[in-house]
Amino acid sequence: MVAKKRIGNVWVFIEQDGGRIAEVSLELLSRARELADQLGVETAGVLLGDRCDGLPQQLFEYGCDTVFLAQDPRLDPFTPLPYAKVIVDLVEAHRPNIFLFGATPVGRSLAPRVASCLLAGLTADCTDLRIDDFEDKASGTVFKNKLMQIRPAFGGNIIATIANSWQDPQMVTVREGVMPMPEPEAGRTGKVVKVPVELRDEDTVARIVERSKAEKAVNLRAAQIIVSGGYGVGSAENFGLIREFAEVIGADVGASRAAVDAGWIDHDHQVGQTGVTVRPRLYIACGISGAVQHRAGMSESAEILAINRDPDAPIFSIAHYGIVGDLNEVIPKMIKAYRSRV
Ligand SMILES: Cc1cc2nc3c(=O)[nH]c(=O)nc-3n(C[C@H](O)[C@H](O)[C@H](O)COP(=O)(O)OP(=O)(O)OC[C@H]3O[C@@H](n4cnc5c(N)ncnc54)[C@H](O)[C@@H]3O)c2cc1C
Repeated sequence: MVAKKRIGNVWVFIEQDGGRIAEVSLELLSRARELADQLGVETAGVLLGDRCDGLPQQLFEYGCDTVFLAQDPRLDPFTPLPYAKVIVDLVEAHRPNIFLFGATPVGRSLAPRVASCLLAGLTADCTDLRIDDFEDKASGTVFKNKLMQIRPAFGGNIIATIANSWQDPQMVTVREGVMPMPEPEAGRTGKVVKVPVELRDEDTVARIVERSKAEKAVNLRAAQIIVSGGYGVGSAENFGLIREFAEVIGADVGASRAAVDAGWIDHDHQVGQTGVTVRPRLYIACGISGAVQHRAGMSESAEILAINRDPDAPIFSIAHYGIVGDLNEVIPKMIKAYRSRV
């Protein structure tokens, strides 16, 4: 009888800064939980830093079974070399099946280093993940229970599904905000495994001398209502109308890339494939055509209202409500109507 190969667990790199866990790590834990349940394995979070003893409980409540905790002053704040060394040692010791990272600046700098040390391959910027079988058409080999790594490709014009046929772990980075934030399960517990930190001199050659943090002007990911302006707004001055509309109805301001590229608004406000992914209760798209790259960042909004003078604009195909008209006429009327009611 041939022994059945043990399937490794599903791991998530837990990003933290100053003891605050990045939202994307919690989003990934919930998807890791689903993938692990499907495979009949466990989830683990990989948490590095210093003075992080209080954090594992939060991770258990978001679906983590085990937390691998590596603590050392040299791991705070994040620098890629020591983090990669600790994580590669850990992967080699435990061989997870799947390893998820957030596609944040930290994840984007760390995951490729880890993948290249492990010769594991990496799919960057995934927007969805699922487990499925796939057949390598060339050899006819069927691979069972593989991670389907789904992401936009060719400038966002197609959605590609990528799978590895080679050795574990299957590694991906996942965009922030594309997976829903789960509800924590209060009181859920798990296991903490303390990881010894063994660093070589070459792992600590880079030192952070000073940190300066520029706070983002807007956090669209947390916004409940977003009024977004596109190229149809026409000018930087006219973007004032979008801001006024947003202020009156208590919304945040978003934008298409065309509006950002025109210099009418800062990139922090860009929604879409190369901007942020949002899922507000209401998204109002003003003068936005609805290109696939824009839709990639907002199509999961609970309700979408589109204002566009072109009745054939693609945005109407995903909008729940549509107004065909000139935004310069429609928006002032909406502002007036709203003001008259409150
Ligand atoms: C790799 C890649 C990544 C990309 N990433 C992003 C991204 O993250 N986010 C993003 O948004 N785009 C992205 N794009 C660009 C995307 O393909 C589109 O070019 C962009 O979304 C178009 O922006 P827009 O709809 O504002 O402009 P347009 O396509 O020019 O549309 C303007 C719309 O305004 C309407 N309009 C004009 N005047 C008025 C008026 N007075 N009243 C009402 N309606 C009016 C027009 O009918 C039209 O539908 C990306 C492209 C590539 C190749």
